[in-house]
Amino acid sequence: MIPQSAVQKFRDSIRGQSLCPGDQGYDSARTIPNAMINRRPAMIARCAGAADVIACVLFAREHDLLVSIRGGGHSVAGKSVCDDGLMIDLSAMKGIRVDPARRTVRAETGLKLGEFDRETQAFGLATTLGVVPTTGISGLTLGGGFGNLMAKHGLALDNVIGVDVVTADGRLLTANARENEDLFWGVRGSGGNLGVATSLEYRLHEVGPVLGGAVLYPVAKTKEVLHFCREFAEGLPDEVVIQGGAFSLPDGTQVFGVAACYCGSSLSAGERILHPLRKFGSPMADMISAMSYVQMQSFFEAFFPPGRHTYVKSNFLQALSDEAIETIAQWAGKSPSPYSFAPFFEHWHGAVRRVAVSESAFPHRQHSWNLFAWSVWIDPDDSEKNIRWTRECWEALRPFLVGGAYVNYVSDEGEAVARSAYGANYDRLVALKNKYDPTNFFRMNHNIKPMAPAAA
Ligand SMILES: Cc1cc2nc3c(=O)[nH]c(=O)nc-3n(C[C@H](O)[C@H](O)[C@H](O)COP(=O)(O)OP(=O)(O)OC[C@H]3O[C@@H](n4cnc5c(N)ncnc54)[C@H](O)[C@@H]3O)c2cc1C
Repeated sequence: MIPQSAVQKFRDSIRGQSLCPGDQGYDSARTIPNAMINRRPAMIARCAGAADVIACVLFAREHDLLVSIRGGGHSVAGKSVCDDGLMIDLSAMKGIRVDPARRTVRAETGLKLGEFDRETQAFGLATTLGVVPTTGISGLTLGGGFGNLMAKHGLALDNVIGVDVVTADGRLLTANARENEDLFWGVRGSGGNLGVATSLEYRLHEVGPVLGGAVLYPVAKTKEVLHFCREFAEGLPDEVVIQGGAFSLPDGTQVFGVAACYCGSSLSAGERILHPLRKFGSPMADMISAMSYVQMQSFFEAFFPPGRHTYVKSNFLQALSDEAIETIAQWAGKSPSPYSFAPFFEHWHGAVRRVAVSESAFPHRQHSWNLFAWSVWIDPDDSEKNIRWTRECWEALRPFLVGGAYVNYVSDEGEAVARSAYGANYDRLVALKNKYDPTNFFRMNHNIKPMAPAAA
């Protein structure tokens, strides 16, 4: 029990709002998009800036409180909310400043993708972020950052040139290629394991308009479409990113959709490149058109309203082999929920794969196909059957998967899965954890455990 006077002193000391059980706004502040997560922090500190984050870390240390860090709250594992501890809520930290001459942006870590894209696009600039605008920039970037610009410009974290981090001892460190280089290496890929990022500086690129959208096929055509995608992906230039999978339209029609985005400077070149996709097998709908980059980034938003239950299985594929295609096709359209995206692929190529595994903490540079079953449903009574189906689907696909998974798509599956998400960089990350967080103060994440000091 923390003395009430100490709690009050802390609440008075921070510039942002604080919320305890019973306070107005407490329940909405602890609610995140994944309805599977229903946790009750002892306090939520809605930080106004880095000084509040430092105060949170020091207060939690002094009183031995568990902390969680909330960026956009989109972690499917729900790691941004803890029971009984202190939730460091960054959602009010939305400062953003574009430097158009240097083509960089400094962004506070409570921003969501849509907010970030809107500000950088005011200058005709952008950097790689994900494809659903309500996702937080910070969790997405610190874990990786797949998105429409990835083949041309790398992952979101490949574009980070600096980060301010509050470490477990309450220091505010600047990390970049010249200062605290080891921390700079580690925060790019280790999620929230090494500290609280309070702002991120990114490299920007000239972007837009783009040619993008999706083509839809009846789900019964999954096999043919995947064979086509495998061949089509072979010749794709860096300007194009494709992803696709099985899902249901609002009227219940089950489809296999392939989304594409061309971000090059000549839309007519984009038309030629995407032509084979748009013509293959007479799609039942072709929703590809020229649009602003901001429009493209919100193309999928309506499919992901908050408040639904979400459970995800994900791994990279060894290869999109004939046998893998056969198995994916067997499971496509079979989810018990009409809101699921399963199975679903992302094609990773271009700039993202030209970065060495040792360049940042993100290890998955060698695989072309990331696969997931993103199961989504509304009624809590349907949880058991949807989770079971997702696991069975994944067991059927297991022979075609590699062990490693993209950390941002991992549900809460324990230590072995978290470890495989950091792959070849795990041991180096343990060394950094020993240095920056030896007591595992930051452990509401896919955790990298520090090594216990050797007994004297
Ligand atoms: C609908 C939907 C669409 C998605 N689309 C994409 C996509 O296109 N591309 C892609 O790569 N990923 C995508 N993701 C996955 C996404 O990258 C992760 O869910 C990511 O964790 C979201 O970041 P967040 O800040 O919203 O999450 P949060 O839940 O707030 O945080 C996730 C993790 O990061 C930690 N964290 C957050 N902010 C900080 C910080 N500032 N400092 C230190 N640690 C921090 C948290 O403690 C937690 O462990 C999507 C997820 C959803 C639900």
